[in-house]
Amino acid sequence: QPKTTFSGASVQDLTFSYGDETILQNMSLALRPGTVTGIVGRSGSGKSTLLKLLMRFWPAAPGSVQVSDRDIGAVNTADLRQMESYVTQQTHLFSGSIGDNLRIARLDATQQEIEEACKRASVHDFIAALPQGYDTPVGELGSTLSGGERQRIGLARAFLHGAPLLLLDEPTSNLDSLNEAVILKSLAQERGQKTVVLVSHRQSTMRIADTVYSVENGRMS
Ligand code: ATP
Ligand code: MG
Repeated sequence: QPKTTFSGASVQDLTFSYGDETILQNMSLALRPGTVTGIVGRSGSGKSTLLKLLMRFWPAAPGSVQVSDRDIGAVNTADLRQMESYVTQQTHLFSGSIGDNLRIARLDATQQEIEEACKRASVHDFIAALPQGYDTPVGELGSTLSGGERQRIGLARAFLHGAPLLLLDEPTSNLDSLNEAVILKSLAQERGQKTVVLVSHRQSTMRIADTVYSVENGRMS
């Protein structure tokens, strides 16, 4: 595994469009190591697009996105994947057991580490209560997994992966306030160790943020 140090990320004067339509305009923000940054903004304002640019799913103009003091375009892909975890708005599961779906985040994870990550994501009790527990085939659960259960599995994956930068796209949008509280507490405990970006519509999630940016008409305020 490549050894990488993470010293924060930043976006400077970033402009991005899908085709003709400008989505982000002259956007700037700093993700200082060990902090929680909140991003709010209405649907379609470009929040997920910003996270995708930070993941290099889309190429950004040279100089506009920096990770660990380097232009993101110059970072080796394996290093980038090691430094960043992105929890998307929809968690995709593949056929296999719940355990398999978690282990893809880190193939050498022990059962204890998997359970620890699931506790932090508030999904361990649900999994442990299934007759086959972590060995339950996802196929058998099929569509019976709720949006919130999937979402918490997605978050557990990110915890397990262990990347220093966590990009979380609406991580609690499908959760009741009890599960949300557990997850926000887990995230707040990461302060100082992880760098967290939290995209959300909900003000309640923003109470754990050190800095909150708001995206409006492609611009940051
Ligand atoms: P939400 O809160 O609903 O998740 P968002 O702030 O995350 O919204 P984005 O997903 O970043 O918004 O989308 C910003 C704009 O870009 C929207 O108008 C969307 O339709 C458009 N868009 C997103 N992805 C693409 C794409 N691959 N190609 C073209 N347009 C896209
Ligand atoms: Mg989005």
